[in-house]
Amino acid sequence: MSNVLNEFLTTNLTELKENGLYNEINVVQGANGAKITIDGKELINLSSNNYLGLATNERLKTVAKQAIDSHGVGAGAVRTINGTLDLHIELEEALAKFKGTEAAIAYQSGFNCNMAAISAVMNKNDAILSDELNHASIIDGCRLSKAKIIRVNHSDMADLRAKAKAAVESGLYNKVMYITDGVFSMDGDVAKLPEIVEIAQEFDLITYVDDAHGSGVMGKGAGTVKHFGLQDKIDFQIGTLSKAIGVVGGYVAGTKDLIDWLKVASRPFLFSTSLAPGDTKAITEALSILTESTELHDKLWENGDYLKQGLKELGFDIGHSETPITPCIIGDEKTTQQFSKRLMEEGVYAKSIVFPTVPKGTGRVRNMPTAAHTTDMLDEALAAYAKVGRELNIIK
Ligand code: PMP
Repeated sequence: MSNVLNEFLTTNLTELKENGLYNEINVVQGANGAKITIDGKELINLSSNNYLGLATNERLKTVAKQAIDSHGVGAGAVRTINGTLDLHIELEEALAKFKGTEAAIAYQSGFNCNMAAISAVMNKNDAILSDELNHASIIDGCRLSKAKIIRVNHSDMADLRAKAKAAVESGLYNKVMYITDGVFSMDGDVAKLPEIVEIAQEFDLITYVDDAHGSGVMGKGAGTVKHFGLQDKIDFQIGTLSKAIGVVGGYVAGTKDLIDWLKVASRPFLFSTSLAPGDTKAITEALSILTESTELHDKLWENGDYLKQGLKELGFDIGHSETPITPCIIGDEKTTQQFSKRLMEEGVYAKSIVFPTVPKGTGRVRNMPTAAHTTDMLDEALAAYAKVGRELNIIK
């Protein structure tokens, strides 16, 4: 190995480990459901984004197997060569219907969807206003576009308005975009879309909502934009197909012209092999399930409310979540990691989230209840929280 590389790796890894910031990655044996097995031990799983339990849904598994039989395991090429399968078109039509837009385009992940969509439209002559808590893939997508990035205080509408006004009135930029998560994954709060739309209309901002954590969760399943009835007011509705939808992939939903442009200008569409047939068919089936009934969505919210109430009664700080995402804020990084480790020994898998994912001193154990959890599982988790919380002097 090169000496400079060796020194770089050793110095940085040692520093992370000494400061308790090194993330040990656990290996899951078997399916990622309401329970998971790690190191041979079965645990209640409060760490997945599998909000509706669809990752192990029998209907999805059946159609995925059938699609593998009819179309093979891989799409074989990028979309523009011969990697656009009939299954992709069927999925994109279903996505547009689900999101209430003219058209939609599917990508291989939510992460590369943000890289693709932002940089296909924005360039060095433009500016992007970006909520300071936006996801890493949005930040990277903004950087890739080479547009001027202007950070906006989290969900601060006065700050957004002032910065939008300054950017537009400066005359320096051809286009100005505002990007926000629909649901913020670390705190579970929801973007103030009605006020955002008003400001966007005043300054002709392009609006971009990443609803990775809102799809399947908000708006009776159809997402945060639908929740506020703003489908025709948001230019880009983007999201992931890997969380509530249970599979993998990302999408943009918008006007036909926007989607046509992304098909000619977004690089992951042009230069990366398309979604595999089994995954594509499973996603389409997931959208059918969400369209047929709100049963899973309702169960998710019921479980989220139950867990929140239980943790609050125990005396934990659960922040200001407006969604089933339930952070349990502990504070310093080492205690947070110790808390999560002790929970695991007590049979509960709830991951610690510390700096740099969240600001220093706001370490938390984040709970992601799903529609697949039973009340007994949540009661077991609460009992573990009570025990570990008292042991580490976090609650009385
Ligand atoms: N956007 C947001 C807001 C996310 O939380 C995530 C996933 N962590 C992504 C995009 C990336 O999605 P994917 O996992 O499908 O790449």
